[in-house]
Amino acid sequence: MDMLINGNFIDLDEKISVFNPANNELIDTVPFATRKDAKDAINAANAAKKSLENISSRKISEALYEVSQELSRELDDFARIISLESGKPINAARDEVKRSVETIKLAAEESKRIYGETVPLDAGIGGKGFIGFTLKIPLGVVGAIIPFNYPLNLGVHKIAPALAAKNSVVLKPSIQAPLAALKLAEVMNQYFPPGAINVVTGKGSQVGDELVVNELVNKISFTGSVETGTMISQKAAMKKVTLELGGNDPLIVLDDANLDEAVLGAVRGSYLNAGQVCIAVKRLIVDQNVADEFAERLTRETNKLNMGNPLSPKTDVGPLIDEEAALLVEKTVNDALKQGAELLCGGQRDGNFYTPTVLDKVTPDMDVVQNETFGPISPIIRVNGIKEAIMVANGTRYGLQASIFTENIRHALKAAREIEAGSVMINKQSTYRTDNMPFGGFKMSGMGKEGIKYAVEDMTRTKLIVLNAGN
Ligand code: NAD
Repeated sequence: MDMLINGNFIDLDEKISVFNPANNELIDTVPFATRKDAKDAINAANAAKKSLENISSRKISEALYEVSQELSRELDDFARIISLESGKPINAARDEVKRSVETIKLAAEESKRIYGETVPLDAGIGGKGFIGFTLKIPLGVVGAIIPFNYPLNLGVHKIAPALAAKNSVVLKPSIQAPLAALKLAEVMNQYFPPGAINVVTGKGSQVGDELVVNELVNKISFTGSVETGTMISQKAAMKKVTLELGGNDPLIVLDDANLDEAVLGAVRGSYLNAGQVCIAVKRLIVDQNVADEFAERLTRETNKLNMGNPLSPKTDVGPLIDEEAALLVEKTVNDALKQGAELLCGGQRDGNFYTPTVLDKVTPDMDVVQNETFGPISPIIRVNGIKEAIMVANGTRYGLQASIFTENIRHALKAAREIEAGSVMINKQSTYRTDNMPFGGFKMSGMGKEGIKYAVEDMTRTKLIVLNAGN
């Protein structure tokens, strides 16, 4: 597929190959863009600012609705592309497209609600007789950088609010999974002026870096790893920056929990997209009193999962994004076993696939729970009571989302208050996300919030107008 710069679909002689992680077959190629292509896209986005500002909010909203309808009509094609390029099971890929349709609709709605306010200037010395009001105006050019694991909806979470607030965008998708974003660009390009949306396919160190350092870019909206996010925040200088980074989400099970719900939450949360989700459940913190039963039930449910061809609707767990990722998961599990963890099921690698794995007797200091493991792993840490559970939950550098299963309202609220995370779910696993909720982590998991209303707010600037109304 071609990339989109200034309304033109552009091919280059040098290509990046895109492989299907399920069988390593070549699916397609995309242009291998350089820093120069990124600069061209940024210049086009900068030039498009004026034409976007001249479109009424009503028309912007209508255009976004049209895009959401077209996405809905092409749901099957989008889902197939997502599944092929990322290895995501087709049912989950379909869910991603459905969510993207809704996310764009939310942006269409939000584009009509960008309000300023009046300011009571006469409350200040010298303010008598003056009227003040604010306008929420576009920031300008938004640089959007996304990872491989939600190649459509993460792009939508940046492009749609940017356009809703009349900003132009340059999106850099992951080179491992750039196709859904390019198809989205094809759809969107029909409804917005040239240069409003640009998608450039290249390496992070070139295309991504140009977005981060180029003075014409006013905001970086980044989703990806802590390591890349940290580097970006250091380089971005005067730009606004939103960072949606890695997670290591705990799921606490107290001894009064409904174990059916807790086990279901653990299975759904740990193995969604083979664990390659920032808000996947990455640590199961379970009270000693119920740990044996919980571990036994979790193992039984994990063994029922079907791993295989992502295009089959019967598949629950697909491959990891590439062999390097699978080898890293294998090493992390093997290291945990050497350090004393107990393997209850899984623990096998076959090429890019890694079997869903339950580890028991994990201790809070092991790498498997200190770092973000992007794979289908359920490590169980046994604790005594809520105090220790919260201490362990807070014992890593991450703080994206968290969950607790308990029937005791006081315990639930204590955990909700004390866990250092952007969201705490009570009796629901941390993979819970609606596209309008404020989403974004604490600690090293990020900075700022997404969720359409919050992203739109962050993609505007406040301008004050003062009117001398006399006495
Ligand atoms: P990554 O950080 O390796 O890459 C993300 C993007 O950044 C890619 O497009 C990459 O090309 C680009 N990039 C790399 N180096 C860059 C640089 N120097 N300058 C600018 N851009 C650069 O992440 P990944 O492996 O693709 O994705 C997995 C990570 O993303 C995990 O840590 C996961 O938790 C995180 N993630 C977070 C969220 C969230 O909302 N918090 C959602 C999904 C994924």
